[in-house]
Amino acid sequence: MNTDRSSENFMVHDIMMLRPEYNRANFILIDRGILCDHNTKVTVHPCNWDGCMMHIAVEHKQVCKHLQQHHGLNTTSPTSDDMQQTTCLWTACLGAHMKLENLPRHMLLSHLGVRWICSTCGGSLSREDAFRRHALERPGCQYAKPVVKYGDGSLVIDNSVVLDGGWSASQKVRVTVM
Ligand SMILES: [Zn+2]
Ligand SMILES: [Zn+2]
Ligand SMILES: [Zn+2]
Repeated sequence: MNTDRSSENFMVHDIMMLRPEYNRANFILIDRGILCDHNTKVTVHPCNWDGCMMHIAVEHKQVCKHLQQHHGLNTTSPTSDDMQQTTCLWTACLGAHMKLENLPRHMLLSHLGVRWICSTCGGSLSREDAFRRHALERPGCQYAKPVVKYGDGSLVIDNSVVLDGGWSASQKVRVTVM
C-alpha cells in the first residue's frame, strides 16, 4: 500500500544526492498536477504528514489528490474498508481520529489554516459553504465577497515563472515529474 510513497521518497532523495543545492532549505517540491490545474497563481503549504517533503496546494480538491497520490489515502470515494476511522499523521496533531472522508477538511482547517473572511463585516468562517451561508443569513452581508486567508508558512507560486519540467530559480520551486 505504501509503494507509491517509497518511490516518491526515493526520487526526492535522488534529486538531493545529484544536486546537493536542492536541499530543503532552498527549494520546495510540488506535484506537477498543481500547476496543470492553475493558470496563474497557486498557494501552497508544506505537508507535514508523516515526514512528507512536499508542498500541497491549499484547496480541498488538491488536498484530496495529494493524500491519494502521495499517502495512499482515497478520501473521495472510500471503499468500505476505508470507511473506518483514520488517524491524522500530521506532525503534532496528536493522532486525531476521524472518518477518512473528513480528513481533507480537517487538514485545511486545522493544519493549513484556511479562513474565509467576510469583506463586509470581517467575520471569519472556516469554509466556503459556511461563508455562503453567512452571506445569505446575516443582514448587510448579502453582497459580501470572501477574502481567503491562508495559514502561516503558506506561499504563493506564480505558475507563469515555473518552467515546464520544473525548476524555477526565481521561486526555488522544483516540480515532480510523475
Ligand atoms: Zn504529503
Ligand atoms: Zn490533524
Ligand atoms: Zn459578513
